[in-house]
Order: sequence, then C-alpha cells, then structure tokens
Amino acid sequence: MSDAANSASAAAHVDGAPLEAAPKAADSLEVIRKFAETYAKRTGTYFCSDPGVTAVVLEGLARHKDELGGALCPCRHYEDKEAEVAQAFWNCPCVPMRERKECHCMLFLTEDNPFRCDSQNISLEDVKSLVAG
Ligand code: SF4
Repeated sequence: MSDAANSASAAAHVDGAPLEAAPKAADSLEVIRKFAETYAKRTGTYFCSDPGVTAVVLEGLARHKDELGGALCPCRHYEDKEAEVAQAFWNCPCVPMRERKECHCMLFLTEDNPFRCDSQNISLEDVKSLVAG
C-alpha cells in the first residue's frame, strides 16, 4: 500500500467511518454501479431498456455521494440537500423503492414495466461512455 493510501486509510479509521463510506471520487461511480447491480438482482428488478437512463442516474448518485456523503436520489429537487441526506428518506434505495419497489428514476424497474430490459448489469465503461455522450 502506498503512503498516500496508508494515510487515507488511517484518516478513515480516525473518523470512525468504514473505508467503503469514504471512497476516492473516482471510485464512487464503481461503488454505486456495483450496488445497483446487486440490488437489482436482490429485488428482482431490471435496468431500463435505454441504458442512457441507467448511466445518468448512476452518475448522479455517485456525484451526490461525493458531494454530500450520501447517495441522494438525483431525480428530485431539494431545497436543502444536506438536510435530505440526513433525513435519509431519499437516499438510494429510497423508502418508496424499499417499501413498494417504486423507483421514479427508472433505475430499478419491476418485471411488468414495459420500459425494462432483461439486464441487471451495466459495465463501468458503458456508464462512462453513455454519460460522456
Ligand atoms: S427513485 Fe429511489 S431507488 Fe430510484 S434512483 Fe432514486 S433513490 Fe434510488
């Protein structure tokens, strides 16, 4: 492990936060992507047939994770994003998703949704190129 990585690791432990909670910015998109794949499989939901939708939502979640420390839903307007993260209602997976499998971002679509595809996977390369347009 490099000196930089060692000191980052030490800082995370000093803060009392698990390392996973404080990834480097470049890692957040991958953390969110992996979470989404795992969560889709666990809940029997699927990604959108338009992979651009999936990519934009993943990128928005990763950006919120970097900026706010929590994966706040990127498809809503908030007066106070920090307060919303603290409330946790709209932290992904949000309460409507956890309780009723309702994802208004179209990241997780139920089997009967006409906009779903058959996939619960998306590569990091695809996400990056789709977001880059
Ligand atoms: S609607 Fe809920 S489950 Fe869907 S991306 Fe937003 S926070 Fe996540």
